[in-house]
Amino acid sequence: MALNLAEPALLRTQNLIDDQWRDAGLGARLSVSDPATGEAFASVPDSDAGDARLAVDAAAAAFPAWSRRTARERAQLIKRWHALILQHQEDLARIISTEQGKPLKEARGEVQYGASYVEWFAEEATRICGDIVAEAVPGRKLLVLKEPVGVVAGITPWNFPLAMIARKIAPALAAGCTVVAKPAEDTPLTALALAWLAQQAGIPAGVLNMVTASREHTPGVVDAWLLDSRVRKITFTGSTPVGKHLARESAATLKKLSLELGGNAPFIVFEDADLDAAVDGLMASKFRNGGQTCVCPNRVYVHEAVHDDFVERLAQRVGALHVGPATEEAAQIGPMINARAVDKIARHVEDAVARGARVVTGGKRVRTEDGPHYYAPTVLVDATPAMELSCEETFGPVAPIFRFRDEAEVIRDANDTPFGLAAYFYSNDTRRIWRVAQALETGMVGINEGAIAAEAAPFGGVKESGYGREGSRHGLDDYMHTKYLCQGQLG
Ligand code: NAP
Repeated sequence: MALNLAEPALLRTQNLIDDQWRDAGLGARLSVSDPATGEAFASVPDSDAGDARLAVDAAAAAFPAWSRRTARERAQLIKRWHALILQHQEDLARIISTEQGKPLKEARGEVQYGASYVEWFAEEATRICGDIVAEAVPGRKLLVLKEPVGVVAGITPWNFPLAMIARKIAPALAAGCTVVAKPAEDTPLTALALAWLAQQAGIPAGVLNMVTASREHTPGVVDAWLLDSRVRKITFTGSTPVGKHLARESAATLKKLSLELGGNAPFIVFEDADLDAAVDGLMASKFRNGGQTCVCPNRVYVHEAVHDDFVERLAQRVGALHVGPATEEAAQIGPMINARAVDKIARHVEDAVARGARVVTGGKRVRTEDGPHYYAPTVLVDATPAMELSCEETFGPVAPIFRFRDEAEVIRDANDTPFGLAAYFYSNDTRRIWRVAQALETGMVGINEGAIAAEAAPFGGVKESGYGREGSRHGLDDYMHTKYLCQGQLG
């Protein structure tokens, strides 16, 4: 597929290290494919540990000067980056859609969403404050400063190729850290385009470095960062097994960690809910990005009194979703990211049906002229906890419906998972709203709302969904140390 961009320079196919666009040291290349067809349309460096170390050399050298700039200076540069991202919204959306597969309309939304974090952290940079503590002993002053941690390594997944990396780089730069980053194998081009825009904005040499790598070479790149004591923090978004690996392997140099990991979100519809609002909320939260989001409802619990009515309304909406290539304006569900993803969805649905679930709509692969990686938006009823899709993220456009009888039962089932990222519920009973919101073991709860992410709110999980928060005033803390100064002899 040809990528026609208004600004062709946005299509970068080299690493950015120390302000230089470079190939991998050993010259290896990695193909970037259109997820619909699996056909390669570009290539980027397939980097190794040597490239990863060069990136850290640059970031470590740039850190002293960048961290000593005033917060206002850093904020102005980050704001310029933000303006350039918005100026190139359409091109960035095209790159996202082409390499990741989300419909263009959603890709434009992702650019705005990612940019909102960049703007937020540019503003927050100027509000970094410490404390002056009341004297504990006469003649002493006690002060608390916030300092940047140093070089930060960011590792991101493919499902939001712009937003996930922007919301790591922006707070790191705002805090005064320098960055080495590695996007996912499937979606390196959006990240490289963002790095080019940062360069155009005037972010100095070495402050932001980007290396790309294949799935095969990724462990080598990331291991080089894990072993390097100059890297003081790892910020990761991705799957829980890789997050646990990073937690274990970073112990040798005790790095600070932020882990935004997998979820298994429950979506509960109580008998007193506004059913139209609940259907709208589920459509927004479940089918965005074809169901490939970490906060996607994975288990939909509907009270038996409203079950049939809810399923009928939902099935009508889901059955009407338009499946098609991401670059087609009318598309609402694009291709899944790759063949492995479609296979996993199909396996989950087959397992559910074999264990007694019934397909109300969808339930099959869709073969378009465009390629084999499409799956029909699906509603299943009679789902049970024994099914694979209740324990594992399906990461696809499948809504399995579980019938429940009472509040205690549904809270127990909703919490019966090692994950704790997001949860949603619909109810019009104020007492129940407070009870349920407190009882759900997740980092985020949508109450009568399906779209919860916002730059001003803390995004993150509990349990095996990780720790650390992105966005909000808490999002900068993860990139800073607290330093205490005690000055004596003042009496
Ligand atoms: P993934 O396989 O964990 O990959 C994420 C990143 O880690 C990629 O850059 C990947 O590189 C890299 N990686 C893979 N194996 C590695 C290793 N052994 N050592 C170091 N790095 C390694 O996850 P994914 O399949 O791309 O993304 C989907 C997952 O991300 C889901 O579980 C989803 O819930 C989660 N997610 C969470 C959030 C959140 O905010 N909590 C947001 C979005 C997604 P390669 O691409 O080269 O393999």
